[in-house]
Amino acid sequence: MQSLWSRVEPLLSLVTKPARYIGGELGAQVPDHADGAVAWLLIYPDTYEIGLPNQGLQILYEILNEREDAAAERAYAPWVDMEEVMRSAGVPLFSLENHLPARAFDVLAFNLSAELVYTNVLNLIDLAGVPVRASERAGSDPLVVAGGHCAFNPEPLADFVDCFVLGDGEEAVGEVNGVVAAWKAGPGPDGGPASRTALLRSLSGLDGVYVPACYEAHYSPEGDPGPHRSLPRLEATTPRFPETPERVEKRTIADLGQWPYPRQQLVPLIEVVHDRLNVELFRGCTRGCRFCQAGMITRPVRERPAEQVRTMVMDGLARTGYDEVALTSLSSADYSGIEDTVTSIIDDPSCSGQVSVSLPSLRVDAFTVGTAAQIQRVRRTGLTFAPEGGTWRMRQVINKLILEEDLYAAVDAAFSQGWKRVKLYFLIGLPTETDEDTLGIVALAKQCVAIGKRYHKGVTVTASVGGFVPKVQTPFQWFGQNTIEELTRKVHLLRDAARPVRGLTVRWHDPKATAAEGIVSRGDRRMGAVIEQVWRRGGTFQEWTEHFDLALWTEALADHGMSLEETVYRHRTEGEPLPWDHLSAGLHRDFLWQDWLDALDQHGLEDCRWTPCYDCGACTGFGVEHVVASAVPPAGGSQGTGQDLSTGGQVPVRFLSTAPSGAVPAPGPDQDAVARVGEGSC
Ligand code: SF4
Repeated sequence: MQSLWSRVEPLLSLVTKPARYIGGELGAQVPDHADGAVAWLLIYPDTYEIGLPNQGLQILYEILNEREDAAAERAYAPWVDMEEVMRSAGVPLFSLENHLPARAFDVLAFNLSAELVYTNVLNLIDLAGVPVRASERAGSDPLVVAGGHCAFNPEPLADFVDCFVLGDGEEAVGEVNGVVAAWKAGPGPDGGPASRTALLRSLSGLDGVYVPACYEAHYSPEGDPGPHRSLPRLEATTPRFPETPERVEKRTIADLGQWPYPRQQLVPLIEVVHDRLNVELFRGCTRGCRFCQAGMITRPVRERPAEQVRTMVMDGLARTGYDEVALTSLSSADYSGIEDTVTSIIDDPSCSGQVSVSLPSLRVDAFTVGTAAQIQRVRRTGLTFAPEGGTWRMRQVINKLILEEDLYAAVDAAFSQGWKRVKLYFLIGLPTETDEDTLGIVALAKQCVAIGKRYHKGVTVTASVGGFVPKVQTPFQWFGQNTIEELTRKVHLLRDAARPVRGLTVRWHDPKATAAEGIVSRGDRRMGAVIEQVWRRGGTFQEWTEHFDLALWTEALADHGMSLEETVYRHRTEGEPLPWDHLSAGLHRDFLWQDWLDALDQHGLEDCRWTPCYDCGACTGFGVEHVVASAVPPAGGSQGTGQDLSTGGQVPVRFLSTAPSGAVPAPGPDQDAVARVGEGSC
């Protein structure tokens, strides 16, 4: 394999941030590519700054490079200026470590963390010089693999990706590597190289691996007569070969303690998001927030042993020189003994009082004065809480069972310990939401400002508001998303209500971007043509405000007989076959449907870590259990601690109209940029 460095280097003076393309970071591994070893190019389909901290990619990078039969390098999406000079100079996508052409690798593996990066995926396959459509690839072309949370509805990318890995990748990546290595070694039945079809069929036999070419989507003979439907209805997706499973179940590693990765976190040469040491506390969440795909698809809870957390933190700080460590998970304050863990890190003599600990995903009702006191001892950065809903009624619907008192106690703890800035995350456009619920966001935030003023002058509270996009494998997968007009109307309700409140700022996600995310998130295979058209008409970096263009999406939908009404705004019915029905995150469909009905009835559901199992399927189906150190819930809080959950159903619940709701003011000047990077969940 020939390095492209001599052709890449002259381009670097022509582009912004050339350090994005040179590699050489602390922690980078420059592998030899031994004969027979499978060469992987791990690709994050967004910029270096967004992609480098991604822990999933770094974990697989290390696991693969520890194997003798594999070698892994990395690539990120070149920014538009770099892509332009690469294409004019005929330089293809290349790896950062050895600057090898992407086409020279056996596997191009993408991390799918958000739907709006899908056009970048197509662009990167094309920039690699590989046919964009999987059906046009030959035996000599790399295998295109994808994983990550979005892989739980892979159908919109089914035309472009050869295989998807569902769930945890730590074990599956080795198994895929083994199949590809055996295929490379050949021979096929006729003595020549084994066919690409043979490779795909072998891969489809692996647990957790979904090969779209081994499945066929069946549609009704005619279009549905409904008002917004012009395409035939999906009836089922079934296997094409006898050895292909009818349903692909996700992979789950039972013991996080056996996977202390990354051991050598990458330290970037330029500033990136989350530029700090990151150590994963636990995987999975059973709080049961009904909008939260990450929580649903990563069950059960598996905590990393506290001693291993400490070791990973201390080794990581010593190796990287970082003075900040983030203890990551979907809800970090839920980790058993979180206060002890934080204290033991801060008090360690090697930290000399210089290391700050951040908990990026703080559950309001598990955040106590003790936790606040510990994490502020070195440095006070801003604190973020996510009540998500503005009223208790709304939070019952979404099962984020945080009482107002929980939020106020957490905010009080924060302000009393010296914080002056607090950020609150909310969703709008949730099922059954009324204007009273929407305006409840301002009421909550206003009260938080008042609490802060008891302790300091000049406190600021920022309410960051995102439009809700229903996600697959959640109880809200049947819900018809709010229209752009309805979300915009709600945004302006909030903006107007917040304007007189000093110390309160409302920021929001662009409702148009919310709609575009909705187009892709629940699409079926036919959405591939829409994604391809958006890409071919220049629609890359759709997560970035300056490049996002809703018109590209709506035109592509119309050109392929689809519409926002049918793909995004329409409620799905109980019996309707869903494009992801043949894939499983462990959750029973009837559990999800019942939870959806409970949501409409405003009934909450307790956290099953500390209450009896309600058989969602995640543990029972996989023979694994929650791994938690503590038999009792975290200090403080309500959920799972005896709160009365029998109070649902008192308010009549109805779906809001999805029709446009009158004149909509133009977006305001303080409209938030498209939020590209979520930080955890709770
Ligand atoms: S199977 Fe039971 S214990 Fe496991 S996550 Fe589901 S409800 Fe909780």
